[in-house]
Amino acid sequence: YAKRRGKNRLERYTHEIVAGRRRTLELTELLRESVEHGFENFELYYQPVFNMSRQVIGAEALARWSCAKYGPVSPAEFIPLLEQSGLILPVGRWIFREVLSTCVSWERDMSDLAISINLSYLQLQDESFFPFMLDTVKESGADPRHIVLELTESYLAANMDRVAQLLTDTRRSGIRVAMDDFGTGYSSLGVLKTAPIDIAKIDRTFVKGIQSSTFDSAFLRLVVELCGVLGIDTCLEGVETEDEFDAVRSMSLSYIQGFLLGRPLPAEEFRRSFLLQS
Ligand code: C2E
Ligand code: MG
Ligand code: MG
Ligand code: MG
Repeated sequence: YAKRRGKNRLERYTHEIVAGRRRTLELTELLRESVEHGFENFELYYQPVFNMSRQVIGAEALARWSCAKYGPVSPAEFIPLLEQSGLILPVGRWIFREVLSTCVSWERDMSDLAISINLSYLQLQDESFFPFMLDTVKESGADPRHIVLELTESYLAANMDRVAQLLTDTRRSGIRVAMDDFGTGYSSLGVLKTAPIDIAKIDRTFVKGIQSSTFDSAFLRLVVELCGVLGIDTCLEGVETEDEFDAVRSMSLSYIQGFLLGRPLPAEEFRRSFLLQS
């Protein structure tokens, strides 16, 4: 009997692996078709970023993709598929151009707002990406001070020697650099001292722990203070409730982002909600 149960479990397990593998192959093929058809089914949403007085100071561009068969698919699933297949390179360039054209069309109404763009490690390894980026910004006529690049902590920490100069040149153009998912990698706080960055985005896992874990709230306080000393702005991600906002209000954070104050929205809705009101 036990043997039979074990066998059933093994069958179910094998079935799940096969189904998962099939979904991966199918989604990758559908993503490829989307790219070939002029990036159809890709869209960018914009999540507002606020200062501590709850005024909008920027937006983070977040990729969305859906298909007829599976409906909307999470970026946590499709971004890795784009990376594994190399499709992230054309898609990343499309995203960059899209954000710039949105930026230019908003510039009249957005005063000092900045738009953040997430970069994949593969784009950063692509030699031609930085020149492409600087050329595209120049050609678009967008103000570089309205652009922020987001790179993950883990990538930055592991590749500092290679990217430091590229980031320094980028920042010289007026574009700002943010370290994303800070606190989730294995790097020490020392990365803050050496990385040529303007903003540290503290991962939302620290907000989740703030009321229950003294470590998380101490870590948060420490990072915010250290960044203050180093002249780096801080953005806390994933603030979902008033209680969480209250718990961090006394820290000298620069910015916060999260469902409490605003969810990601299509460009036009973002513009209507956050740019035309004042
Ligand atoms: P990320 O860059 O850290 O983006 C923040 C993620 O947290 C977004 O998920 C956002 O919707 C979500 N979020 C924001 N506020 C809250 C909150 O209060 N609570 C919770 N539970 N979640 C919140 P999303 O859009 O699903 O993106 C997930 C990840 O996929 C991003 O993490 C980023 O690493 C990647 N990604 C998304 N768009 C792009 C893109 O255009 N290019 C690249 N390379 N990666 C992207
Ligand atoms: Mg990000
Ligand atoms: Mg983030
Ligand atoms: Mg994150």
